[in-house]
Amino acid sequence: MTLRLFNTLTGQLDPLEPADGKALRMYACGPTVYDYGHIGNFRTFLQIDVLRRFLRLMGTPVRHVMNITDVDDRIIQNTVAAGIPIREYTARFEEAFFEDLESLRVERPEVIARATEHIPQMVALVERLAAGGAAYKTEEGSWYFRLAAFPGYGKLSKKDLSGMEDGARVDLDRYEKDSARDFALWKAAKPGETSWETAIGRGRPGWHIECSAMAMEYLGESFDLHAGGEDLMFPHHENEIAQSETATHKPFARHWMHVRFLLVDGRKMAKSEGNFYTLRDLLLKGYKASAIRLALISVPYRHPFNFTFDSLIDATNAIERLRTFRERLTAGKFAEGEDSAMQEAAKEARERFVEALEDDLNTADAIAPIFELVRAANTAIDQGQFFAGDCDAVLPVLRDFDAVFDVIEDRDAEPTRRALKWAEKAGRMDQVAPQLIAAQSLTDEAVEALVAERRAAKNARNFARADQIRADLAEKGVVIEDSKDGVRWKRK
Ligand code: AMP
Ligand code: ZN
Repeated sequence: MTLRLFNTLTGQLDPLEPADGKALRMYACGPTVYDYGHIGNFRTFLQIDVLRRFLRLMGTPVRHVMNITDVDDRIIQNTVAAGIPIREYTARFEEAFFEDLESLRVERPEVIARATEHIPQMVALVERLAAGGAAYKTEEGSWYFRLAAFPGYGKLSKKDLSGMEDGARVDLDRYEKDSARDFALWKAAKPGETSWETAIGRGRPGWHIECSAMAMEYLGESFDLHAGGEDLMFPHHENEIAQSETATHKPFARHWMHVRFLLVDGRKMAKSEGNFYTLRDLLLKGYKASAIRLALISVPYRHPFNFTFDSLIDATNAIERLRTFRERLTAGKFAEGEDSAMQEAAKEARERFVEALEDDLNTADAIAPIFELVRAANTAIDQGQFFAGDCDAVLPVLRDFDAVFDVIEDRDAEPTRRALKWAEKAGRMDQVAPQLIAAQSLTDEAVEALVAERRAAKNARNFARADQIRADLAEKGVVIEDSKDGVRWKRK
């Protein structure tokens, strides 16, 4: 079996395999670094992370390229208003973006390409189009793509573009949804704006040419997969196809993946709607990075996902169950031997997990068998029917699950600490949940000392003091668990 992924271009599930038989060459449109990303943006990056992690788990290496759009209309507007050079402005948001990806455990693509560092490649592509008559220059010095030069326009989004006006132009990076018009490849310099002196004149690239030029630079003229959020299908990806295929006469990407939106009350989460949360907003409210990751990936990418705080609480509880279970396996001592039913259950859970992901990355169906396995194993342990050999069969299933989902291993402290540090610097401490401040004020050493004091109090039969310590710690988000193997504590 191989992974079958919905292909927007063909309108069906197609097998996703490297055409060269080696590595899967994929390009994903990256962020425009004009502000902090919201969790809608991160839903898309997380689902693409699920894809690359699953491919690698199944033994397919990936060559994943992501662009950084570090020049566009909004960036220019904001830098002109702030009176600072664009690199100074974008560096801040680019850094924040990578920090957020790290918090969410999104793996780094093999290649990260900034638009501003690939101007010559974009200029060369415009020249190539111009040589074939598909690009023309306007009087003020901008270059446009002649839509009439590409009869296949609309094949990705399946839009009926019969009303397309030849020669009508649009030069905004963002524009009305349904307009199919000659689009800007290169924009002539305007006074006060960042621009580059090039063979096609002084100016800056349009948004679409950026992705075509950088994808071809790192992946070749034809490659396996192109991905992005659903809003990019039209016109951005349609325009990428038009300019690339007109220039090369070869198919651009074979496979197109589009992640459906994260919604709030049925509406797209977006800056312009004012209905968005950044990752930092949620961390400061006390949600853990792992819970945000799980919530954003557990609804399959082809379903819109209506964001709620309940979904974060559900994810928090689910992760807690998985972590407690793994702890139970790794800390437990089990008798030699194995139980055939448990062996079978582990094997079946692993198979169903893989099959679900092979079926268009159905993350919801991939999680279900893991929890069934946890339930079965917990029951077996309670009944003394779980053996060392079963532990050896179940742990690798959790490991494979975590190779893709990456939530069991607890790395939640660092993102929260980072968000708090950021809030302090950015003057946003008023947005921090009180229990988070209390929890952070307590170091691990201080917790250890209180746990020891509680033990001493219990030994001295001073149960009132022991209970008091437990309650104080709970208030600061630290949970104490007494078991026959001793006392454990953890931060909630
Ligand atoms: P941008 O920084 O606006 O270029 O967007 C970065 C990525 O996030 C693109 O792939 C967008 O399609 C995607 N995106 C934007 N809004 C949402 C949303 N509400 N849900 C899912 N993906 C989104
Ligand atoms: Zn793009």
